[in-house]
Amino acid sequence: MRTLNNFIDGQWRPPSNATHLPDINPADTEEIVAKAPSSTAADSVMAIEAAERAYPAWRATPAPKRGQLLYRVQRRMEARRRELAEVLTREEGKTLVESAGEVQRAINVVEFYAGEGRRLLGETIPSELPNNFCYTIREPIGPLALITPWNFPVAIPIWKLAPAIACGNTVVLKPASLTPLSAGLIADIFSECDAPPGVVNIVYGSGREVGQALLTHSAMKGVSFTGSNEVGTKLYNTSAANGIKCQCEMGGKNPIVILDDADLDLATNSAVQGAYGSTGQRCTATSRAIVVDSVADQFIAQLEARVKALVVGNGLDPVTDVGPSVDQTQLDTVLNYIGVGQDEGARLITGGLRLTDDAHRCGYFVQPTIFDRVTPNMRIAQEEIFGPVLSVLRVPDAASALLAANAVRYGLCAAIYTQDVSRAFKLVDQLEAGIIHVNSPTVGGEAHIPFGGMKATGVGLREMGREAISFFTELKVVYLDYTGSARTNNLY
Ligand code: NAP
Repeated sequence: MRTLNNFIDGQWRPPSNATHLPDINPADTEEIVAKAPSSTAADSVMAIEAAERAYPAWRATPAPKRGQLLYRVQRRMEARRRELAEVLTREEGKTLVESAGEVQRAINVVEFYAGEGRRLLGETIPSELPNNFCYTIREPIGPLALITPWNFPVAIPIWKLAPAIACGNTVVLKPASLTPLSAGLIADIFSECDAPPGVVNIVYGSGREVGQALLTHSAMKGVSFTGSNEVGTKLYNTSAANGIKCQCEMGGKNPIVILDDADLDLATNSAVQGAYGSTGQRCTATSRAIVVDSVADQFIAQLEARVKALVVGNGLDPVTDVGPSVDQTQLDTVLNYIGVGQDEGARLITGGLRLTDDAHRCGYFVQPTIFDRVTPNMRIAQEEIFGPVLSVLRVPDAASALLAANAVRYGLCAAIYTQDVSRAFKLVDQLEAGIIHVNSPTVGGEAHIPFGGMKATGVGLREMGREAISFFTELKVVYLDYTGSARTNNLY
């Protein structure tokens, strides 16, 4: 069992209060996976100052050379992929196959941004002035805070870190308190790859103390946050007050829309994968199935059969389909919403209970759950549950499906199932979501493709792909007059 420390200025440093907290395996609460610092604001300041000291030299390092660090990180991650996946499963709970997929995604992201070191392009723009060369340059912002959630403890830190440092910023990562060891392995890897001290710093501790301190320090020039709306909104306000750049990716309540001509086998597979994969603990999880009446009975029957066959257990066991909730609080939230759904009059088709038999006694396991006859105003149709619970809403036609799909505050992703390309395009045009899948599940994303949501899901610029460069750089415009003699500039 490893005792982690903060990673500051290229060194592992104990927290100033010498306090560590246990990192508990949610599938087996008797296992302590690691211990991590419960740091104070003073540790945050130390990390920020390290990032600040490292910034001038890192900014001056040619971007292709910064990219070479990421190529080394990619190779180290490939070499340690099994260990990364196993740690991820032990501290977060998702199955080993899901963890391996997350690690692969992170590797792809690192590879993509390594290449971006050679493509930090600006533009040349024709000026209205004669003999004037006008162009843009992408420059780094400065030291940045990266604040990340527990549900993708490898991929999300990496998809912020890699573009941030490729663009020449230095960073302080504050990982979620529930999943510290994954971040520890990321620090190991950067250290093994000779990242200059202070370019990547990691400080552990509660968001309220450590995270807040990161945002209010004068050296901090921006924050990239992924997590809940409650915390993200606070950070957005604090960033606005301090005049720093802020990007927040937050909750979701993602629908799968199933029209009457859908391939129902495909749609059922998609609903199972989207709603119960990663125990429903994904921002992209399918949380609502909006199904046209004429095919609803058949869809529910197929879905019920599939869901009853899912094996719930420890993600390290290869037969497991669905792992545990991440901790007692998340389990209580899920069970509470199941109670709310029943009280609201939704029809429980299957699931609904915590699993407490011998095989599940030591973990936070809940049965995969389906509610039918959910109406758009019910809380289980509106609020993010973040567990293996799917709400089925029956609607008369495609127009009502669209209304129901958009009738939530969130707008991360949506899936459409139809075999009619014209109906698909019409829904694509009108669905309020940042990512839309046609005949594929709501979950997933690729390294080179932008990711993020509309409405209450996202504020700031998109993550991933080339879009992320816009957040992690400042744009500088240069007017270079090569007339060679005095001239009045008549532009306003
Ligand atoms: P969370 O409670 O908001 O925590 C996210 C991070 O913020 C953690 O590192 C947390 O630290 C930190 N934090 C908490 N309070 C803070 C404060 N006052 N100041 C600064 N930092 C603070 O979210 P979560 O429970 O970890 O993650 C689940 C949520 O993330 C869900 O809503 C999910 O939809 C969302 N999510 C969104 C996306 C997306 O791309 N849209 C992707 C993944 C997850 P502690 O761990 O110490 O509390």
